[in-house]
Amino acid sequence: MRENPFDKPLRFLKGVGEKRAQLFAKLGLATVRDLLTHFPRDYEDRTAVRTIARLVPGEAACVVAMVAEPPRHVRVRAGLDYVRTRVVDGQRALSLVFFNAPYVKDALREGETYVFFGKIEEGRREMQNPVFEPIGRAGQVTGRILPVYPLCAGLSRGQVLSAVRQALDEVREHWTETLPDGLRARYGLCYIRYAYENIHFPASPEDRDTARSRLVFEELLTLSLGLRRLKQQVARAVGAVVPPVDIEKFYAAIPFAPTAAQRRVVGEVLADMAAGRPMSRLVQGDVGSGKTLVAAVCAAVAVKNGYQAALMAPTELLAEQHHRTWRPLLAPLGVETLLLTGRLTPAQKRDIRRILRSELPVFVIGTHALLSEGVDFGRLGLVIADEQHRFGVAQRSRLTEKGDAPHLLVMSATPIPRTLALIIYGDLHISVLDEKPPGRRKVDTFAVGESVRPRIENFVRRLVAEGRQVYVVCPFVEESGGAEGPRAAEAYAETLRRQVYPALRVGLVHGKMPPARREAAMRAFVEGALDILVATTVIEVGVDVPNAALMVVENAERFGLSQLHQLRGRVGRGQHKSYCVLFSRAFTEATRARLAVMTETDDGFVIAERDLAMRGPGDFFGHRQHGLPNLRVADLAVDMTALSMAAEAAGQLLEEDAALSQCPALREAVDRLLAGQVAV
Ligand code: ADP
Ligand code: MG
Repeated sequence: MRENPFDKPLRFLKGVGEKRAQLFAKLGLATVRDLLTHFPRDYEDRTAVRTIARLVPGEAACVVAMVAEPPRHVRVRAGLDYVRTRVVDGQRALSLVFFNAPYVKDALREGETYVFFGKIEEGRREMQNPVFEPIGRAGQVTGRILPVYPLCAGLSRGQVLSAVRQALDEVREHWTETLPDGLRARYGLCYIRYAYENIHFPASPEDRDTARSRLVFEELLTLSLGLRRLKQQVARAVGAVVPPVDIEKFYAAIPFAPTAAQRRVVGEVLADMAAGRPMSRLVQGDVGSGKTLVAAVCAAVAVKNGYQAALMAPTELLAEQHHRTWRPLLAPLGVETLLLTGRLTPAQKRDIRRILRSELPVFVIGTHALLSEGVDFGRLGLVIADEQHRFGVAQRSRLTEKGDAPHLLVMSATPIPRTLALIIYGDLHISVLDEKPPGRRKVDTFAVGESVRPRIENFVRRLVAEGRQVYVVCPFVEESGGAEGPRAAEAYAETLRRQVYPALRVGLVHGKMPPARREAAMRAFVEGALDILVATTVIEVGVDVPNAALMVVENAERFGLSQLHQLRGRVGRGQHKSYCVLFSRAFTEATRARLAVMTETDDGFVIAERDLAMRGPGDFFGHRQHGLPNLRVADLAVDMTALSMAAEAAGQLLEEDAALSQCPALREAVDRLLAGQVAV
């Protein structure tokens, strides 16, 4: 059989090899197919061509010019040298300077003409480090729209670009159209090969849009088909029947009275669980609305009825936290609560796995590892996913395939507009926790500029002296070269440690740290071994450190309001008066108005609405904190229309051909989605 060129491992591409293939692997890219779906996150337009006389300072453009003098190489000191030359285009001359690029001296020949792409600075007729190519071979790196890819350390833009170019060439003759002709015609979608060529290397912005439309449609169609299949699987299955119980004795075991909203939602869940069909329910509730109580009570009811219940937290730390809180509360009811995390010894893990394999009714708390291979449940009746944004379509599918089709409860802190939730979670019912427990003290929130920084720094020292702890959150800053976040956060933590708070214990967590180090830093903060925790938004989910009384957010203007709200939800969880300080350097009217919302209300739903109204949906959904599928090309806010079209198309396709036997490629894509081989 001939090999499928889409499955070719990247190490076999020219110029890639073993070593570089490992770097690609860090980006989650192993095969040609993976690389082709590594879509640009942006584009750089290098099509503008100007004469030297017409160059506009600060605006990058191409100039066609002849090298007018032999390039000179000048060494300034170790680590700094440059090549300088002068070019002319018939009217004007322009100096070029290339720092730390000695090879340019031989690459540029006097008397030859090149296309240079770069920009000049205000007041200087000089171009620094332009990209160039000989006029006869122009069109590779100048004069066109070039993709900008997500990168990782060690992998340059040029390397990714040339690998993608090669991947496209490899498969050029091997594309098979995935979408039926009728459907493409009806929705005006281009061919697959055209789409992939032009999403990576578009000849014009219009071509890119045409390509994108098709890929977006295809992605959303696959998602819709997958959701429908999921729904059918659930409808066919028989769920555990958990008969109604006297719920008051469960509430009596908890040290506070449940809110009316908590009672209502628990009632909705129990009604589902009594019905004999596997439940799929989404509970939406603002930070601090008490979702965990709903989870624990429902789990306890399942266990008392002889079933096993599992609660999946997004991190080990959260799992431990839930276990610590609920084990003693549920024990008097005769409900045993176990913890399964990666931190247990092999012997402990083995023990717990043995219990789960038996039919012993227990409540087990852990991470996603709970659903991994090697963990079998003898009588699983209920699965609860806390903070559902880590719980995608594939996991939902795997769950329904587990022998006994357990009930599923998904909990989320982010208000997703109902219409959107209905399409994306067409297979889920929705409950809303729209009330907060009584006695919550408002977190005093201030939006401030640089002038008050010294006062805030003193305030931090005073709070720490009183025994409190402080979060300092930095945005995910993109740096040149494509590396994201970590360096900025690391450098900032270093500055705070050395210069600002030398007497305090400053720790750091960010998303690009190895999970073990990240958990260790979080744990140190939880245990009080750190005074200040510098963090990116990784801390936004669920952590409960009641002693933390102040949240400082740097560059607050870069965050969505809903995200700021999640972050603020990390403080004010104990008996201490708590504060949130939003720093902003760019204090424009718009920023002021936006941040003012944070100082005025602490209602997450109101904030989400205002956020949408002020920033437009694109920004709101741009953040990965909403529980929506993690799509590759589509953006659910912008592509809402495409989403309803795709949902409609999915319905039609299945009506004509329920097994998708006419479109095998599409069926395979759905299989891959449900098997978890593609992100969503
Ligand atoms: P969420 O997960 O919805 O953000 P949690 O479940 O972590 O919120 O609850 C936040 C805090 O409120 C916890 O400390 C919890 O013990 C407390 N809590 C929950 N329900 C109530 C209630 N009905 N009355 C008083 N406190 C409550
Ligand atoms: Mg929670």
